[in-house]
Amino acid sequence: MMVKKIDHIGIAVRSLEKALPFYTDILKLPLLGMEEVESERVKVAFLQAGNAKIELLEPTSAGSPIAQFIEKRGEGIHHIALGIDSIEARMKEIKEQGIRMIQDEPKIGAGGALVAFMHPKSTGGVLYELCERKG
Ligand code: ZN
Repeated sequence: MMVKKIDHIGIAVRSLEKALPFYTDILKLPLLGMEEVESERVKVAFLQAGNAKIELLEPTSAGSPIAQFIEKRGEGIHHIALGIDSIEARMKEIKEQGIRMIQDEPKIGAGGALVAFMHPKSTGGVLYELCERKG
């Protein structure tokens, strides 16, 4: 596995509107954009933090995985996204090494990136996202 960088850190929040001022006004991170990712039932906001980004995730329905996460563990760090190339090849490679993936195929995530999550049971409790960005 060749990790190019930490692409972003995903943070679960109840409300983007309430969470954003800390990032934009106190940390003074530029807001790169906001979008709704229907497949994940979340609204996300991306902020630039040096070479990496912060992804704030607000659930759009009570059944969404982020809503369930907040209910169980409260707001806070949800996942770490590793920037990689050739996501399908990387997934195949680590599956052959015994790592469980949450899904078998990459999905289209925020910003059109191809993403797939490793199962925390295979990673010592951390939810890692593989994230391939074009260009
Ligand atoms: Zn993410």
